[in-house]
Amino acid sequence: MKKIAILGSTGSIGTQTLDVVRHNDNLQVLAISAGSNIKVLEAQAREFSPKMIAVWQEDKAAELRVMLADMDVKIVSGMEGLLELAVLENVEILVTAIVGMIGIQPTIAAIKAGKHIALANKETLVTAGHIIMPLAKEHHVDILPVDSEHSAIFQALHGEKDNKIEKLLITASGGPFRGRTKEQLADVRKEDALKHPNWAMGQKITIDSATLVNKGLEVMEAKWLFGVDLDRIQVVVQPQSIIHSMVQFEDGSVMAQLGTPDMRLPIQYALYYPNRRYLGGERLDFGKLAQITFENPDMDTFKGLPMAMQAARIGGSMPTVFNAANEKAVAKFLNNEIRFLDIYEMIGEAMAMHQCVENPTVEEILRTEEEVYQWIESRW
Ligand code: NAD
Ligand code: MG
Repeated sequence: MKKIAILGSTGSIGTQTLDVVRHNDNLQVLAISAGSNIKVLEAQAREFSPKMIAVWQEDKAAELRVMLADMDVKIVSGMEGLLELAVLENVEILVTAIVGMIGIQPTIAAIKAGKHIALANKETLVTAGHIIMPLAKEHHVDILPVDSEHSAIFQALHGEKDNKIEKLLITASGGPFRGRTKEQLADVRKEDALKHPNWAMGQKITIDSATLVNKGLEVMEAKWLFGVDLDRIQVVVQPQSIIHSMVQFEDGSVMAQLGTPDMRLPIQYALYYPNRRYLGGERLDFGKLAQITFENPDMDTFKGLPMAMQAARIGGSMPTVFNAANEKAVAKFLNNEIRFLDIYEMIGEAMAMHQCVENPTVEEILRTEEEVYQWIESRW
């Protein structure tokens, strides 16, 4: 039995992780967690019998204790609860399917406790990669990518240990607004931004895909995961989302991973690495597929990508500013408080006012996050 815990079990990645568990008889879920959706947590608890459940909101945790009074399960809450879940005894792999920088502290706690990390929560690596990667090495812990692009690269690198990477080619669908001009983006509504052409995902990452912020976060994520410099990471738009990313080696050979867009594949690969197992679902039909096309990203219109590259080049606490400003901006856009293009404005202004801290500690990262939030609240 492989024992896992899930941070964010009610979301898109969390529920798909549970689906992988459902179809494999040697995975056991020891802990689940969510922000506030206790109805879904109750159903998950009854199906998977975890030993611990973490609920962010204490009042919801109290309600869940009543709902699950007939079960032998410990229900914890707040950051303390997430930290307790992260180090739970006997858990081998922690799936970080939580959204946002809130994942930093639990991920660090889990690594220190020797848990392998199946990492979906890219915001954590973007802001604290300089702490997490060396810490994982020190504790002999694997950081197993769940993000489809990074899983593709991870798969393409299998057996290539000593071979030199010339370039990472991260593919992007281009999102729902690919091909539009700035003028055409001025009045787009959240309902339009939430219609991703190929993937069904949580709201935050879906907006990030529309702004290309997601691709920017993924470039930073790739830099940390694979130790490749920014100038050797290229984003290629591949609108059908069939090629999930590629690695170019020093002999010019390019290895790609292809498949239908289904996150259960990278989730399952992370949980069973380096082994593959049967996974049901649609297969690529090259006869029907007809074409796979490529184009360069439109960096002038979709500034999320160039701004992320700029933040990454500056380094230190700047990726935290980029990420925190984006998290706040996306929340405001989803709340109909700002317009689509204001997301870029907010990130740009937050980056411009920031005094960069080199090599920030976790405390400095969290303080920077808080400062950015406060600044945005006072300014917008
Ligand atoms: P989602 O919004 O669908 O789910 C987020 C989960 O986190 C939910 O279970 C929610 O309850 C939980 N959560 C949120 N705030 C919490 C808090 N304060 N305390 C405890 N739990 C909390 O998001 P998602 O799409 O599943 O994405 C999760 C992460 O995976 C993100 O970092 C995203 O960028 C990354 N990712 C997602 C996909 C995808 O296909 N959905 C693909 C690649 C990477
Ligand atoms: Mg991705």
